[in-house]
Amino acid sequence: MWQAEVRVDLDAIEHNVRLLRAMTRAAAPAGSHGAEVMAVVKGDGYGHGMLAAARAALRGGATWLGGCTVGEALRLREAGITAPVLAWLMSPGVPLDPAIAAGVDLTAASAEQLEEIVGAARRTGTPARLHLKLDTGLGRGGAPAGEWPALCEGAAKAQADGAVEVVGVWSHLACADEPDHPANDAQLAAFHEGLATAERCGLTPRYRHLANSAATLTRPDMHFDLVRPGIACYGLSPVPGLAVDLRPAMTVRARVALVKRVPAGQGVSYGHTYHTRAETTLALVPLGYADGVPRAASDRAPVRLGGVNRLIAGRVCMDQFVLDCGDDPVAPGDVAVLFGPGDDGEPTADDWAAAAETINYEIVTRFGSARVPRVYSGQSPERSEAESVGGSA
Ligand SMILES: *Cc1c(COP(=O)(O)O)cnc(C)c1O
Repeated sequence: MWQAEVRVDLDAIEHNVRLLRAMTRAAAPAGSHGAEVMAVVKGDGYGHGMLAAARAALRGGATWLGGCTVGEALRLREAGITAPVLAWLMSPGVPLDPAIAAGVDLTAASAEQLEEIVGAARRTGTPARLHLKLDTGLGRGGAPAGEWPALCEGAAKAQADGAVEVVGVWSHLACADEPDHPANDAQLAAFHEGLATAERCGLTPRYRHLANSAATLTRPDMHFDLVRPGIACYGLSPVPGLAVDLRPAMTVRARVALVKRVPAGQGVSYGHTYHTRAETTLALVPLGYADGVPRAASDRAPVRLGGVNRLIAGRVCMDQFVLDCGDDPVAPGDVAVLFGPGDDGEPTADDWAAAAETINYEIVTRFGSARVPRVYSGQSPERSEAESVGGSA
């Protein structure tokens, strides 16, 4: 019998990716098939399980996967996934030869990174598949505008030498979750300029890409040849209140471990931040911050138990938290739902994000912990045993 679980609906992921691909197709000029979809599966698939999420996304029509680190990209290859995979964050000295040998696309945002990639390609005897990244205003990764022409020239030379194939030019948005933010248009203009510079250097990359989930959903003019949605693949919207048919894929639930009657005035959990108002029933839920429940959700986040959404009573502990159930008939073994799609009245990841003063991304990604088994449902369910890591289900 299970104690706590993260349920992942793979059909939902497949559905969401299919929807995103339909949107890029609909936005395409006549005669074009529209931008391809790179499903971003970093952060262990935003907590959903990278391999299962990747396969579901490919079933939904994604033709690319985005893995952030070289390690993530290699894990996809080791699992037998042959679709194009892009990695975009690497520190100096991280071995690149295995990635090039495995056909992983790599990103260069500086002369140093280009040099490392060229060196690895020479050792491997295989041209590296390269994407050049421009900082169009995010102020995080990517080459600053002043270094961009030299980076393009260096890449063009490396391509002429046969060390690399420049497959892509790309950038990342800072404020796409605020569709009216002026940074969006400014970044688009800077991206067009950067593309023109690349072209002047003789680069004609097959894939120009800029859009994350928010821009995929709200800015068809930013789709270019490839879009890189992450959070939307998992059914959550980066833009609050957007009317799109995304299906949240994750449900987190646990079975009540202990139920007891306590008198009025009982302090509950560490620090006694909560006191019972009257004689009441407390239910102990066996999930805590070691499992992904944010401690910031103490006294604030809603949990559904016995057909009612109740706020967590007192502090979230490492392994457990308490619900105050009044005189409702709750019993050990009853299922408490922290969040899910919301179809049965349960709270959503958005509700939890609001309660914990964070974003839905962080809520779902936190639940990738080793202790809670991940259970997959859907048309082609993964073998849950193979994917879940440990846990005393
Ligand atoms: C995480 C990430 C994405 C996906 O962003 P979402 O907002 O989840 O769609 C796309 N591109 C890059 C470079 C990223 O780091």
